[in-house]
Amino acid sequence: MRVLDTRGRALRDVRISVTDRCNFRCVYCMPKEVFGRDYRFLPRRELLTFEEIERVARVLVGLGARKLRITGGEPLLRRDLEVLVGRLAALGDLDLTLTTNGALLARKARLLADAGLSRVTVSLDSLDDAVFRAMNDVDFPVALVLEGIDAAAAAGLPVKVNAVVKRGVNEDSVLELARHFRGTGHVLRFIEFMDVGATNGWRMDDVVPAAEIVQTIAAEFPLEPIEAAYRGEVASRYRYLDGQGEIGVIASVTQPFCGDCTRIRLSADGKLYTCLFAVRGHDLRALLRSGASDTELDEAVRAIWERRSDRYSELRTAETARLRKVEMSYIGG
Ligand code: SAM
Ligand code: SF4
Ligand code: SF4
Repeated sequence: MRVLDTRGRALRDVRISVTDRCNFRCVYCMPKEVFGRDYRFLPRRELLTFEEIERVARVLVGLGARKLRITGGEPLLRRDLEVLVGRLAALGDLDLTLTTNGALLARKARLLADAGLSRVTVSLDSLDDAVFRAMNDVDFPVALVLEGIDAAAAAGLPVKVNAVVKRGVNEDSVLELARHFRGTGHVLRFIEFMDVGATNGWRMDDVVPAAEIVQTIAAEFPLEPIEAAYRGEVASRYRYLDGQGEIGVIASVTQPFCGDCTRIRLSADGKLYTCLFAVRGHDLRALLRSGASDTELDEAVRAIWERRSDRYSELRTAETARLRKVEMSYIGG
C-alpha cells in the first residue's frame, strides 16, 4: 500500500548501497587524504547479506517503490552481485538499475543483463585521459570505462552516462562528452558538484550551474527542453534539435527539487536514510537480525517514511554544508 510523508510525497525510488568500498578515489567523493590506507571500511559481517537486502526491498516494493538502483561505493566490487540482481528482478515489474564507475563493467555486463538488470548508469567525468586519471585519482584510464559502456550496450542494457562537473577541474570536458555521446543512444547527464558528506571540501564556487552547462552545449549543438518523463525525475531533459538524442542536467544545488523527492536510501550496513544529506539513519539491520517479522519491518519502514520532512537542498546554506553528513561513498548517491 502506498505511503506518503509529511509533505505528501510517495515512496517510489530506492537506492541500495551494497558496499562502502571503491577502487577509485574520485576527488569529489573519496578524497585520498580521508580515504587512505588507514580508513576503516565496514567489516563484512556488518554488511547486509543478499537475503537481508532482498527482504528490505520486498517491504519497500510493498510500500510503493517501483525503481531500485544498486549503488555503493563501487557496487561491482561486491562479489556475485548478479545473484542479488536476480533476486531483486524477481520481486516484480520494476525498473532495476545500477550505478557504476564502469571499471569492471566489461567483465560483468553480460552476467548482469542475463540476471535481469533493466539498465545501467556509468559515471564518467571526462574523455580526456589525463583529466579522468586525475579525477579518479587512481590513474585509471578512460579507455577501459568506454569498453565497459560498449560491453553494456552489446549486452542489450540501455546506458546513461553521468558526469559530475567541478569548476576548474573538468568544465572543459562538457562539450567533448556531448560531442562523443550524441547519436550513440546513450543519455548523457551532468550533475552539479554537491556538498554531500563532510570531507570533499565543497564550496559554492566549485559548482558549475546546470544552466551554464546547458548554454555551453547549446552554443554548439542547439537544444530544446523536453517534459519530465515522470513526476520526481531529477534530471531536467533537453533534446538536440538535429535529432541526435538528449542530455540531462541534475541541478540539485542551483534548482533544488525536494518537493518531488520520492527517494529512500539503504546503506550497505542496513540503515535507512530519507535524504541524501541526512546526518542519521534508521537501523534496519538490528530489526532484521533480531528476528522481526515482515509485518514488523513493514510497520517500521512505514513509520519512518510517514515522519519524513526532509528538504535539505531547499534549505542549503554555507552552515549546512559544514554539517557532519554521511558520505556519498557510504550512502551511494
Ligand atoms: N561508484 C559508483 C559510481 O561512481 O558510479 C556508484 C556510487 S557514486 C557515490 C554515485 C554517483 O555519485 C556517481 O555518479 C558520482 O559521480 C556521484 N557523486 C559522488 N560524489 C558527488 C558529489 N560530491 N557531487 C555530485 N555527485 C557526486
Ligand atoms: Fe568511487 Fe563512485 Fe565515489 Fe568515484 S564517485 S570514489 S567511483 S564511489
Ligand atoms: Fe531529496 Fe534530500 Fe535531495 Fe531534497 S535534499 S531532493 S529531500 S535527497
